[in-house]
Amino acid sequence: MKAPSGRGGAPYFPDHGDGGYGVRHYDLDLEYRVGPNRLGGTARLSAVAAARLDRFALDLGAFRIGKVLVDGGPARFRHRHGKLHVTPVRPIARDAAFTVEVRYTGNPSPVSSLWGGLGWEQLTDGSIVAGQPIGAPSWFPCNDRPGDKARYRIAVTTASAYEAVANGRLVERRRVGATTTWVYEQDEPMATYLASVQIGRYQFLELAGPVPQRVYYPSAAERRVRHDFGRQGAMIEAFTRLFGRYPFGAYTVVVADDELEIPVEAQGMSIFGTNHVDGARGQERLVAHELAHQWFGNSLTVASWSDIWLHEGFATHAEWLWSEASGGEPAAAHAERWHARLAEEPQDLVLADPGARHLFDDRVYKRGALVLHALRRVVGDEAFFRTMREWTAAHRHGTVTTGEFTALAGRVAERPLDAFFTAWLREKDLPPLP
Ligand SMILES: [Zn+2]
Repeated sequence: MKAPSGRGGAPYFPDHGDGGYGVRHYDLDLEYRVGPNRLGGTARLSAVAAARLDRFALDLGAFRIGKVLVDGGPARFRHRHGKLHVTPVRPIARDAAFTVEVRYTGNPSPVSSLWGGLGWEQLTDGSIVAGQPIGAPSWFPCNDRPGDKARYRIAVTTASAYEAVANGRLVERRRVGATTTWVYEQDEPMATYLASVQIGRYQFLELAGPVPQRVYYPSAAERRVRHDFGRQGAMIEAFTRLFGRYPFGAYTVVVADDELEIPVEAQGMSIFGTNHVDGARGQERLVAHELAHQWFGNSLTVASWSDIWLHEGFATHAEWLWSEASGGEPAAAHAERWHARLAEEPQDLVLADPGARHLFDDRVYKRGALVLHALRRVVGDEAFFRTMREWTAAHRHGTVTTGEFTALAGRVAERPLDAFFTAWLREKDLPPLP
């Protein structure tokens, strides 16, 4: 009924999500025509009411709604400004399980945001989804808040000339006439913004390493892709040693056949643009960054966007650790250089609550990484990496808060770290590197 407050204060996107219920499973049957950018779908959500619901809301962009069913029966609905308000025939009791089915069709258009359009986007010859943080309603009806994680089945039907890649395991692929239906199942709970469908004329190759890895790419990029992702298997090995077990069954990379401003993570997947592969590993730090999000962001997901540093600080810090592990500059050199740079920048951000406007401010990324390097110096390598591994194990496939991380770090180090974390996370001035 009301917007969720999260666990960390005022929500950054009060128009997104509904705290009145939680979704357990999304079943999406989608049909997409690439040329006209036409998406039709049926979404079936299995949910549980957190309170008695006279009505509830889903987030969904400007599609034409054919029908809304609650528990199999027609329900009244009103759809405007990205919200689908549903009034079931009878109120739903607190803790009751219920289903919602929505049939919809239209031209998916990105959700407008402070960072431009987010979500489903048409490419020159295909489509991508870049959902972070509020782009999911551009392609399916959802409870769009990061802490409401659910399992998914995603079926996509499109022309057979295209590959359709979605999160999870490919469980079925059937060709009927000129179209092919691809069915994926995502068994581990996933936040809405990490759900993804990538459609394009791609080839793929498999990479060697401790988990199955597949890279989809336009054929012209093959040589560059082979070289630039050539060390990804070793990267997974290094991160498994440092952060604990890789959280998913496989890892998929899509190099879209277009230039992208920045790469983007999805669950069990990352999406790069052709501009991110140069055949010289010039962007390898981004390969490490996106991979690290599988632990930090995808397995461990913030309950509230105010804690974004738990995603971006950790992924940026992982870039430095990969540099160190692969014989490049040690993490300390990166930390000292970025500390000196941040000292020159305005110090007007609170890292653990930067405000929606600064969600993707580079200072959040770099100061977030610096907190971790500073912690490593204060508690030593043994306690630091034990903290990282206990963190990913304790909250695997769950949601997390800053308070949970600082409490765990203090427990592992067996010493109070309150003053340390307050200075780095809650105050604006940049503390000196220990
Ligand atoms: Zn990132």
